[in-house]
Amino acid sequence: MNEYKIKEQICEIGRRLYAKGFAAANDGNITYRLNDKEILCTPTMVSKGFMKPEDICKVDYNGKQLAGTRKRTSEVLLHLTVYKLNPAINAVVHCHPPHATAFAVAHEPIPKCVLPEVEVFLGEVPISKYETPGDQRFADTIAPFVKDCNTILLANHGTVTFGPDLQNAYFNTEIIDAYCHILILAKQLGRVNYFDEQKTRELLALKRRLGYDDVRFRDDDSVICGESSFDESYSDFVPKARAFQPACAPRTGPCSWNGSERELDTEELVQTITERVMEALAGAGVR
Ligand SMILES: [Zn+2]
Repeated sequence: MNEYKIKEQICEIGRRLYAKGFAAANDGNITYRLNDKEILCTPTMVSKGFMKPEDICKVDYNGKQLAGTRKRTSEVLLHLTVYKLNPAINAVVHCHPPHATAFAVAHEPIPKCVLPEVEVFLGEVPISKYETPGDQRFADTIAPFVKDCNTILLANHGTVTFGPDLQNAYFNTEIIDAYCHILILAKQLGRVNYFDEQKTRELLALKRRLGYDDVRFRDDDSVICGESSFDESYSDFVPKARAFQPACAPRTGPCSWNGSERELDTEELVQTITERVMEALAGAGVR
């Protein structure tokens, strides 16, 4: 595909981001890897819903601007981290889709084993540690994850999704936001059901046949439906589940969680009781 066509495609993805409410005002940025020296990127301070091909900038792998009349996005270093560490990736989308960003703000891990499409197309989704946007420290927060996933939540910020082409990179944004929206709605109904590990293994087999990668392919002992594979070996920031508990332990079959049915472990129980007692004492004016 020629460079102008790619610029048009970036503008089209920008229109969809804006129309879906994934990028308010001038938020969000999109990049495309042209070759091993050049990357196309969206400009700063321009609404992604109203870009023209002439607005698209070109940068090198250090973020230095090579072409374009507008100034390149300030978040390009985040994108470059993905390209440098994952050679299979040619397009990156960063934005602030509200439902997924709600999980990023709550530091709520994305549960597994709830929807088949999410298992196949996204797989596990980590949450990277918060850092002030713009500089290399911010870009470095996603480095541990980029080889093992295609979608990352940025704590207290938004999402970054990537893929072999622009359409795939963008679709991952749509999938994660739709999934988070569904989870929030199901939670309001009061119950979230998980499918079991065996059913998930069937989906993972399908995923392998389709040529997709998954962090759970890495070793045979990885947790299929429970806690996230993105543990302390990836980052010292490992958010704990609160609203959505991980699916039940292996081989216990399908299960659901609705708060009251949930089994509390002893430590958690003691902590809950202590908190309630302290609240009651505070309410009664005893300190
Ligand atoms: Zn942002």
